[in-house]
Amino acid sequence: CGIVGYVGPQNALDVVLEGLRRLEYRGYDSAGVAVLAEGGQATAKRAGKLANLEKALADSPLPESTIGIGHTRWATHGGPTDRNAHPHLSADGKVAVIHNGIIENFAALRAECETAGVEFASETDTEVTAHLLAATYDATPEGPGRLAEAMRAVSRRLEGAFTLVASHADEPDTLVASRRNSPLVVGVGDGEYFLGSDVAAFIAHTRDARELGQDQVVELDRDRGLTVTDFDGTVVEPTAYTVDWDA
Ligand code: GLU
Repeated sequence: CGIVGYVGPQNALDVVLEGLRRLEYRGYDSAGVAVLAEGGQATAKRAGKLANLEKALADSPLPESTIGIGHTRWATHGGPTDRNAHPHLSADGKVAVIHNGIIENFAALRAECETAGVEFASETDTEVTAHLLAATYDATPEGPGRLAEAMRAVSRRLEGAFTLVASHADEPDTLVASRRNSPLVVGVGDGEYFLGSDVAAFIAHTRDARELGQDQVVELDRDRGLTVTDFDGTVVEPTAYTVDWDA
């Protein structure tokens, strides 16, 4: 339902939670966050209001981080429980994914992962994307853009509607995102990037936005900057615009 991502110099958890609060108007039944820290993913997720998540974070704080993602969920597949809340992790714990929309062919993809020995932790259509991303990343040659390449390969296999945002424990400077039939905007700040399901997610920080087109993937990397491609890897120029409504 609501999507926020951040990479830059600020405390990622603060930015992500602030973005999620600004997306609350959309309605949701659960919320969660993941930050990359100390070589791994650190997550917290709770059914119910953001206040439940904030209480969980107060009781067991996440390590400091400057890269993170956050989600407010409107359940379509699997009830509104802590386990079904996003982010979802790959079985090796390295990939974290948040998702808006519905993966129509998730059952076939889930069966494929289960045949390969993956145990699922939730009843969502979303979780399959975390496992596919981890496996596809492992099968992608090392080098710059590896996670974006994995996201493109996975996106080509998905049917339905999705905005996906993912991070990988082995790529602590990179966020990737993908979209089909579901919106995704990037906010560009001074040495920092934001992702949102709409501009409300980052309006407190920047008005410099890029809108992603249908079937496109964006990579936000601390060193390489912003790169948008189609699902086949052809670089495309995103539409730039200035957000002109009041925060
Ligand atoms: N279909 C996904 C789920 O049920 C995402 C729902 C959403 O857009 O929030 O978990």
